[in-house]
Formats: sequence, C-alpha cells, structure tokens
Amino acid sequence: MKLAERVNRIKASPTLAITEKANALKKEGRDIIGFGAGEPDFDTPVNIKNAGIKAIEDGFTKYTPVGGTDELKDAIIDKLKMDNQLTYSRSQVVVSCGAKHTLYNLSQALFEKGDEVIIPSPYWVSYPAFVLLADATPVILETKEQDGFKVRPDQLEGVITKNTKAIILNSPSNPTGAVYAFEELKALADIIAGSNILAISDDIYEKIIFDGVPFFNIANMRENLKDLTVVVNGVSKTYAMTGWRIGYAAGPEDIIAAVSKIQSQNTSNPTSISQKATIEALRGNQDDPRKMVEEYRERRNCIVEMLNTIEGITCVKPQGTFYAFPNVSKLYGVSYNGGTISNSVDFAEYLLDEANVAVVPGSAFGSDDHIRLSYATSMENIRKGIERIKTAIDNLKR
Ligand code: PMP
Ligand code: GLU
Repeated sequence: MKLAERVNRIKASPTLAITEKANALKKEGRDIIGFGAGEPDFDTPVNIKNAGIKAIEDGFTKYTPVGGTDELKDAIIDKLKMDNQLTYSRSQVVVSCGAKHTLYNLSQALFEKGDEVIIPSPYWVSYPAFVLLADATPVILETKEQDGFKVRPDQLEGVITKNTKAIILNSPSNPTGAVYAFEELKALADIIAGSNILAISDDIYEKIIFDGVPFFNIANMRENLKDLTVVVNGVSKTYAMTGWRIGYAAGPEDIIAAVSKIQSQNTSNPTSISQKATIEALRGNQDDPRKMVEEYRERRNCIVEMLNTIEGITCVKPQGTFYAFPNVSKLYGVSYNGGTISNSVDFAEYLLDEANVAVVPGSAFGSDDHIRLSYATSMENIRKGIERIKTAIDNLKR
C-alpha cells in the first residue's frame, strides 16, 4: 500500500525507539542498563493513584467535555496563577492526552505550508516532527555549548523572517538541562514582542530544577506578551505520571478554541480517570514530587562527576531535568573491531554492543557531538552504567 507522503517526512521517535530496543534486549536476557527514555523511575504518588481509583469506583468513567472538565481546568488555572503568576479563564485552557498531544494539536491548529517555526537546537526530538506534520518548515537555530546551550538575542534576530510564525522554547531543556535566566529570557521576549511572533513555552520540566535556580516563563517578561504566548505543561515528569497521559495548554482564547476543535475530531477528551488524578496531583500534597527532585539532584551530581572522569568526555552540569548531555566528540575517529566511531549514532551503538548501556545519540536532538543519558534511574544503575562506559572507552584503541 502506498502510504501518505507525510509519513516519510518524519522518523519514529528515537527516544522511544531506543527504549524499546533496550527492553527487547533485556527480554532476550542481555543485562542492559538503560539511560534511554526520559521517564521518571518513581511510582506515581499514592494520593494520586487513589484519586484515580476513586474515579473508577465513583463511575467517573464516561466522556467529559472535549478540552477537560471545569474542575480540572480550575485546578490548572490555580496552578498557573500560583506558580507562574499567569491569569487565565476556562476558555483559555485545554487539556489533552499528554503534552505531546497538546503540542501536536497546537501545531495542527497554528501552522501551515509557508510558515517557519524556530526550534533552538539541541531540541526535543518531536518538535521538528510536529512542524513537518503540519506542512510547515522547522528553522533549526543552533545554540552553542559555550553559550550554555541558550539562544543569544542576535541569533534570534538573525533567523526571524516575514514567514516566521512561532518559536518553541523549552526551559529547563530536554536534552541539555539548560534553564534560561531572567535577563536571557527578557532579551528574547523583547525580540519576540517586536516581531509579533508566537512563543510556545514548553514548561514540562518546570519543577525539575536544582540548587534554587529560579524558573521563568516568557509570558511574564513583558506587558502583553501573554497574548503572544501559549504555555504548555503536563503532569508526566513532575508527578511520575507518564502513563496517565495528561498535558495542557493555556493561551489566547482563539488558539485554545482551535486546539479544542481539532481535539474534538481526533481523541475527544483525555481519559476521565486521569483527569481526576491530575486534580489531586495539582492540588494535593507536593512532598513526593519534591523528594523526587532531591533524588534527581543527587543522581545528577553523581552522573556528571563520573562522566567527567572519563578521558575524552566532558559534561556540563545541567541545572534542571533528568538528562545529562555529555560531549563525546573527542572520541570520534577512534577505531574498534575494524570499524570507526565517527558520530553519535556509532558511539551509542558501540556502548550498546560493548558496554550493554543504552543512550540516545545526540543527532536525534540535532547535536552530533553529544549523547543523552537519562538519569531517571537508580543510583546503582548510574554507578554501574557509567563504570561500564568508562571501561568500554578505556578499551578503545586510540
Ligand atoms: N516536552 C518535552 C520537552 C518532553 O521531554 C516531553 C516528554 N515526552 C514532552 C513534552 C511530552 O510529555 P508527555 O506527552 O508525556 O506529557
Ligand atoms: N520525552 C521523553 C524523552 O525525551 C519521553 C520519550 C518521548 O516522548 O520522546 O525521552
């Protein structure tokens, strides 16, 4: 059967593909340590699970309004007000089946042929795919490691054209862990406001920040910038709720209405049970997510320190998320078993073959000098896995 051309425009999500591959190898009996998918290894907190169970017992198992219940929208509105000092009404909020779904629907609602969408790289693997599936053009804006992987204002000015529709911002960033400081974001906000383009702010890692580094949203940077911003967030990462599939967007009413309209013709409402659980996540006790962040911080310190002891690898300390993004390019050109490691895909393959360690090649995120390791795994796995990487690299012929 001839498939639609759009299928060939994109690749399957590499982060999910690597995790599936690692899991398949584990099933075959290989002792694989997985640093692949960015998925919290913690269980969903018990109060949240109980809210889901109660929803089932209460018979809250039917369709809800397409964009989420009023009760959940109110919980999101309160969260955005309290955490982000952003005020929205119910008609400015839509709840979807995960932030990935939110971003996909948003892209379908906003972008079309001829539109350019700025995506700073390294980027989360799905952003270019969302834009391509909407027939628009991703404009990759390469950030530099020496700039802390953040967009400089002159760089942003340099890529804006009359066709620019939006920029996708992600702070803390998957995969670099970079967090924009107030002044950095303010400088970008001035340009965005002056150019009248839309900012899509993917705040999914908002709460996974370490050492008291503050989180800022671009919508707060200037008067009226809220009218040019769509805030996207979800519960997957903060509350270890990846399987519950709840994400949401808040922004200008016309955009949110368009997203809801599209959603009404694809999934309808997100799962009723998950909506109830999300209300508990947002309104309930926040001790569990805080403990998770503390644990991620310790793991980050351990993984970064260990990676930096390996000759040929340098790793910047991420300020947020649960990803380490070491530069491994000094090891390119090295040969093994008659082959040569010349890029991040070769490097990741070498680690899987020789060290039984699964990582994601940086090329998936638009940066071939790096690999990404998710440290949302136990300290024991981190220690064992990085030791294995060290041994595998010591064994390389240089
Ligand atoms: N944005 C970023 C940057 C992510 O890393 C993820 C992780 N999958 C998402 C959005 C989507 O998360 P979810 O669909 O689970 O809400
Ligand atoms: N966002 C996570 C990651 O980057 C989950 C996988 C995905 O949705 O791509 O690994």
